Amino acid sequence: MRVFFRLSCILAPLLWLVSIGYASTIQAAGVPVESCKPALAAVNTLDFPSDWRIIMAGEKLWAGEMEKVDHTSQLAVTDRKQHITLIRAAAFTDPNLTGKYITARHVLAHELGHIKCGCNDEWKAENYANAHDH
Ligand SMILES: [Zn+2]
Repeated sequence: MRVFFRLSCILAPLLWLVSIGYASTIQAAGVPVESCKPALAAVNTLDFPSDWRIIMAGEKLWAGEMEKVDHTSQLAVTDRKQHITLIRAAAFTDPNLTGKYITARHVLAHELGHIKCGCNDEWKAENYANAHDH
C-alpha cells in the first residue's frame, strides 16, 4: 500500500524539525511551501515508508547541514536512523544542479534506494533509482 505524504510548512532550524516528529510529511524549511509541490508529487509516486519525513531545504539551511555531516552531497542526504531525507530545494528549480540527465525525482528515488537497501551502497541506490524514477 502506498503512503500519501502531507504537505506542511515549517520554518525552523532542522534540529527543531527533527524533534517534532511528523511522519509522512514534506516540510518546507526556508523555502516557500509551493516549492514542495513538485517534490510532493514525486514522493507520492514513490514507495517511501510511512514514517519517513522529507525536508526541502533552502540554500542557507542546506549549506549549514552540509557543514555538519562528513558525507556531503550536492542534492540530498538521508538519515536512516532518524528517518529523514533532506533534499536541496534548489534541485527542483535549478536544472544546472541536477544536470541534464538527472531529475529531482531521480534524486528522491536514489535516496529511497538507500532506504530500501538499508545501506550506503551508491550502486544499489542508483540501481533502485533507475528502476523507479519514471
Ligand atoms: Zn547515494
